[in-house]
Amino acid sequence: MNDRLDTLFVTLAAIPGLTVLRDEPLAPRTTWKIGGPAALLVEVASSDALVALVAALAAPAPVRWAVLGNGSNVLVSDRGFDGVVLVLTGALAEVSVQRDAFGPGRHAVQAGAGTSITRLLRTAKDQSLGGLWVLGGVPGTVGGAVKMNAGTRWGEAKDVLHAVQLATAHGLETVPVDALGLAYRHSDIARDAVIASATFAVGDADPDTRDELDRVLAHRKATQPLQLPSCGSVFANPPGDSAGRLIEAVGLKGHRQGDLEVSPMHANWIVNHGQGTAADALALIDLIRERVRAAFGVELRPEVQRFGDFGTLTREGTP
Ligand SMILES: Cc1cc2nc3c(=O)[nH]c(=O)nc-3n(C[C@H](O)[C@H](O)[C@H](O)COP(=O)(O)OP(=O)(O)OC[C@H]3O[C@@H](n4cnc5c(N)ncnc54)[C@H](O)[C@@H]3O)c2cc1C
Repeated sequence: MNDRLDTLFVTLAAIPGLTVLRDEPLAPRTTWKIGGPAALLVEVASSDALVALVAALAAPAPVRWAVLGNGSNVLVSDRGFDGVVLVLTGALAEVSVQRDAFGPGRHAVQAGAGTSITRLLRTAKDQSLGGLWVLGGVPGTVGGAVKMNAGTRWGEAKDVLHAVQLATAHGLETVPVDALGLAYRHSDIARDAVIASATFAVGDADPDTRDELDRVLAHRKATQPLQLPSCGSVFANPPGDSAGRLIEAVGLKGHRQGDLEVSPMHANWIVNHGQGTAADALALIDLIRERVRAAFGVELRPEVQRFGDFGTLTREGTP
């Protein structure tokens, strides 16, 4: 750990609402179960603590940092993350409902960015709220779902989002959904902004679609390899096509690199049989992109976000 991180450890440990951990393994905090440790990992339990933290990361000298949600769309380097990883907990993982906040029958669901999508959906179901079921089965947090504009074949985060609160070195700011540049698995939210909370605008659950969530979850169980660690879809679908179809067409379904395998059930998923590494994952990603480019002239865009230093890794994964 460098001197700046050593000093930062002491500064951050003195801020109420922050829990600071050194050399914290990241693999168990991701759904792919891959990668090395974070030099510092800070659990943040309130918006005040978050604002103080972001300010401390920016001055006197900026330090490398990133937010980790549920780790369901990240590939952590085998060397880990030589900086500060932020995890939102406590009051930043709470959810509340204000009925009729946007007029009769239009309700506000306010959720800290650390809230799991499962908890958000349970609240919606318990309170007979509609709309949010389009995120059914996405194993992330509210922050990760907004940042990635997560979605399913039934809709995406931006369809139900009203606004977010962003924390930057300048404090907290409320930003309406239209200013976030949300598009298919993409947002324009700046790298140095933390989504602190999100407000969703939803109606009452439609009695005709009340069972939709159960149907969505059953469909996923039947079509996705949920029993092995993965990051879900590795690539975004190219316009008008499906990444899984293209990968299957170039014969890579079931292809293995070390302990990682292009899932025989769903070719856009790479599953980890136990000891998979980030180097193996990158090698498979490169191979898939090359083969699909050569066969179809299509450039697949990885959806998964890289965490840490991948610097000089070659195709074979040798540093
Ligand atoms: C089994 C499985 C199924 C999946 N199915 C789907 C699906 O149907 N649809 C879909 O869209 N995705 C799916 N995914 C991918 C993933 O669940 C989504 O992208 C999810 O939104 C990521 O949320 P997360 O909290 O895990 O974010 P992470 O993976 O932890 O982070 C993803 C990105 O968001 C950033 N981020 C996270 N929180 C914040 C915050 N508070 N402020 C700023 N930036 C933040 C991170 O820095 C990173 O860049 C699936 C993944 C798995 C493992």
